[in-house]
Amino acid sequence: MARMSDRIRSIAPGGDDGWGIFHAARALEEAGVEIVNLTVGDHDIRTDPAILAAMDDAARGGATGYAALHGIPELRTAIAKRVQERTGVATSPANVLVTTGGQAALFYAVMGAAEPGERVLYPDPYYATYPGTVRAAGAVPLVVPTRAEAGFQPERSSLEAAGEAAAILINSPNNPTGAIYSRDTLDTLAEVARAGDMWVISDEVYDTQIWSGAHLTPRALPGMDARTLVVGSMSKSHAMTGSRIGWLVGPEDAIEALSAAAVHTTYGVAGFVQAAALFALGLGPDFETRVAAPFAARRDVCLAALERTSVRAVPSGGAMYLMLDIRASVLDAPAFAARLLDEKRIAAMPGDSFGRAAEGHLRIALTRPEAELTAAIAQIANLVEETRP
Ligand code: PLP
Repeated sequence: MARMSDRIRSIAPGGDDGWGIFHAARALEEAGVEIVNLTVGDHDIRTDPAILAAMDDAARGGATGYAALHGIPELRTAIAKRVQERTGVATSPANVLVTTGGQAALFYAVMGAAEPGERVLYPDPYYATYPGTVRAAGAVPLVVPTRAEAGFQPERSSLEAAGEAAAILINSPNNPTGAIYSRDTLDTLAEVARAGDMWVISDEVYDTQIWSGAHLTPRALPGMDARTLVVGSMSKSHAMTGSRIGWLVGPEDAIEALSAAAVHTTYGVAGFVQAAALFALGLGPDFETRVAAPFAARRDVCLAALERTSVRAVPSGGAMYLMLDIRASVLDAPAFAARLLDEKRIAAMPGDSFGRAAEGHLRIALTRPEAELTAAIAQIANLVEETRP
């Protein structure tokens, strides 16, 4: 074979993309082995039949050709309206680029914000694709450590110690910690971004999964709409992970420039998927609340089940995960997760997939019914007991 470029090899150096347990779980499932898969934030409900009917109607009605490259105007308008209603920031269709999921929006945002070789900061723990996404876009990832005692909120001292960068990428509500950034944290981030003439890339794909407190976007802070790119998605809010539909919201000129990235990668998003997304947004906030509700209930049930064990969850305010502290075990989190899968047939993500600050933790996705989750928690606690020093 001819040689693969350094750029593609650098995305997941050593072949480790942090998703090893997820891939192992998938392989077991494909081989017909029954496991409780708590690795990935994919709902256990399927996309609502009414949304699928809208997709089907659109496809049969002819929306099977190339669709408008920035997104169909009606969808850009609906996204702008949703963003404006939820955040109070004036938003027009020209501020919106429709993308193939939040992941493509992240990639475009980094491409637009950073020159090749420039640094992009993000707090640790972080969503597992961030380092590879930054590298894929030609920039250099640099983590900003956070502390459990500070609720995993990025702090001024760590942000300033990180030095010069083109952008800071944040995610609130946070995957994996569930932290919701406070007004103080966002004010600090905004000050640091202004002082360093940086972009803020705000990944808000969990904005409907708020269990306590309120979601704030940095784009709503004074003057910040000019330097904030917001990543949105219908994956989590509407149980549409497989439809690959999301967006970037930012200054008009930035969105126009970033559309070049969409043209030269995906060449737009399938028209019938966009029509389904338009229909889904038309279902309004009540629908989004209904999709999020089971995760809130499961979280409560899991926290109650944990009370009966010596394992503790990291306090969290949102998102469909719980981070469990397994430092009482002699095993590090990757070894613990491997043994959990091997012996108990439970798949959960080792915290190490999300950075140094999450070592010694296990992230479980609340994507199974309550009874399965409580049984899994009992098994995780058992394994901690079995592997105490
Ligand atoms: N950002 C975060 C924090 C996520 O957890 C995910 C998916 O799990 C994404 C972005 C990407 O979501 P999608 O590409 O499905 O919109």
